[in-house]
Amino acid sequence: MTRRLRLTVATAVIGTACTTALGCQAPNSASARPEPPTIAASPAPPGTSESGSRPASPGHLSRPASSVPLAKPPRRERRTALGEADGAVPAGVTVFDDTVPGVANLDPALLRALRRAAADAADDGIRFYVNSGWRSPAYQNRLLREAVAKYGSEEEAARWVSTPATSQHVSGDAADIGRGDATAWLSEHGAAYGLCQVYRNEPWHYELRPGAIDGGCPRMYADPTQDPRTRG
Ligand SMILES: [Zn+2]
Repeated sequence: MTRRLRLTVATAVIGTACTTALGCQAPNSASARPEPPTIAASPAPPGTSESGSRPASPGHLSRPASSVPLAKPPRRERRTALGEADGAVPAGVTVFDDTVPGVANLDPALLRALRRAAADAADDGIRFYVNSGWRSPAYQNRLLREAVAKYGSEEEAARWVSTPATSQHVSGDAADIGRGDATAWLSEHGAAYGLCQVYRNEPWHYELRPGAIDGGCPRMYADPTQDPRTRG
């Protein structure tokens, strides 16, 4: 009874609102307006960069305006914005965090070694934060494009970021460890756990070298361009 009453009252109110306000339809159609492609368009293969048939994809990766539509649907953002599921690691995550794919998807042997070392380093009051670990190919590709924009050329970018095909992060075989105290600890003690810095220009980047436990870490490459693995 009362429910029906309320219903009729409600429809009456809506009805008058619609007839009086011309814009009754407008807010609806505005919210139903298809949003521009957010990030899906950004990791496009090289061929589609300039002459794409998409109307509104600006050049490379700076997309200042798209931060507004991205903020609207917080749930969907994970899929489109290459978030945690693609290997982005939130601040404060350590090697012990199993819930973040960037950590959980690391090679199990590497992760075990990192945790053993971290447990011992904790005695010295040091925590092993993970700035980056496993990355999806799409995420690696975006990092590479960002590096090209930042350093101005693919050659210079290659000194810092590998391609999805050759990156040890994509295969789960590398972790970038955070904070100077942790990397200093690792450079002194890491070999005993089979953990080695690989590139001289990246004191944070560690990979597993089981032979290091007995024989010490191999000589570092100056940077990734010197690493035969990156010359796919
Ligand atoms: Zn790295």
